Amino acid sequence: MTYNSTPAVQSRLQKFKKDIERHYPFYIGFPAASDFDYQELYSLFGYLLNNIGDPFVDSLYASHSKAFEREVVAFFADLFRAPKDDHWGYVTTGGTEGNLYALYIARSLYPEARLYHSEAAHYGVAKAADILRLPASKIGTDEKGEVDYQALRRAVAANHRQPAIVLANIGTTMTEAKDDVAKIKQILVEAGVPHFIHSDAALAGIYTALLEPHHPFDFADGANSISISGHKFIGAPEPCGVVIMKRSEREAFSRSGQYIGAPDTTITGSRSGHAPLFIWYAIQKWGMQGFMERVQCGLELAEYTLTELTKRGRQAWRNPNALTVMLPTPAEDIVRKWQLATYDGWSHIICMPGLGRERIDAFLADLDNSVAKGQGAMYGRPYPRT
Ligand SMILES: *Cc1c(COP(=O)(O)O)cnc(C)c1O
Repeated sequence: MTYNSTPAVQSRLQKFKKDIERHYPFYIGFPAASDFDYQELYSLFGYLLNNIGDPFVDSLYASHSKAFEREVVAFFADLFRAPKDDHWGYVTTGGTEGNLYALYIARSLYPEARLYHSEAAHYGVAKAADILRLPASKIGTDEKGEVDYQALRRAVAANHRQPAIVLANIGTTMTEAKDDVAKIKQILVEAGVPHFIHSDAALAGIYTALLEPHHPFDFADGANSISISGHKFIGAPEPCGVVIMKRSEREAFSRSGQYIGAPDTTITGSRSGHAPLFIWYAIQKWGMQGFMERVQCGLELAEYTLTELTKRGRQAWRNPNALTVMLPTPAEDIVRKWQLATYDGWSHIICMPGLGRERIDAFLADLDNSVAKGQGAMYGRPYPRT
């Protein structure tokens, strides 16, 4: 049956699209690339693509994109220096599922373990610990959002009879601070506890792997698993992500997927077959070189933004190699218009691919015209946390 939608349906959809297009030019505070174009894939939306079950075993249901998913996994395993002959992974619904899955595997390996994560970890981490009934210790951070290693050392020592699962932030949500996985590894080895380290690299994973000086976060640095979001730095029209781990550790635990013809090794049952295509397509389109150019653009824009804010007497700052610029929260009308993520007196701008200098300049012009100077804290005051 061909369906011809009514004028009411058409105008509802047109209005929705207009609303989205109206807000789009003011996105400067959220970690999502906007320079993507997947038109070549649009005709594939005429089909259900379902990657149900393990990506490395083709399921009975033939309409899937697992061959592409496996190439995506191979790309990130290589980028994150996972062991050549011992890695595994899949395309998730986002960074949150990647974290949940990694902690699930870690807990399966070490049922008696305790989870350690910093106060700056994404809110989804505490939820994952809750779902898994994992006892967790929250560790403080320095003023820029990096975990306090001495506090971590003390917490692990205080619980030395329990194996340790550490979730390292590779780019915190608010300040894009990066924990040092090599240091964390050393602390755990010295404490003599069985351990598992997961790198939550939702936003920054791809470019942290590319930038110099190398920040320790990957498998060669001591991580057992790494997850990223696909709709953040890569950019995608629907939320998605990738989780990578060692096959040998994942296999310590597995369920069979009864009637789907593939092992049930993922969190959800049915999985998007379109999401792997987006990520695969972006890898073909950009490649390492393209990813590198996009992050360089973002870093330059972040430096420009910081300089311009400083010139205007705003107490802005940013972490090394971060796309995120922190500034004291400006007046409320500006926060609303520019949809600035705001926390305890601080807001941030994230210079994602697709964000141009014109948009930053428009924001700065609004800031110049604003009467209120903003209530933000001064530089030097610890970056506030609950
Ligand atoms: C965004 C983010 C997440 C969650 O990722 P989703 O793709 O939104 O599920 C997890 N951790 C960090 C550090 C993030 O920035």
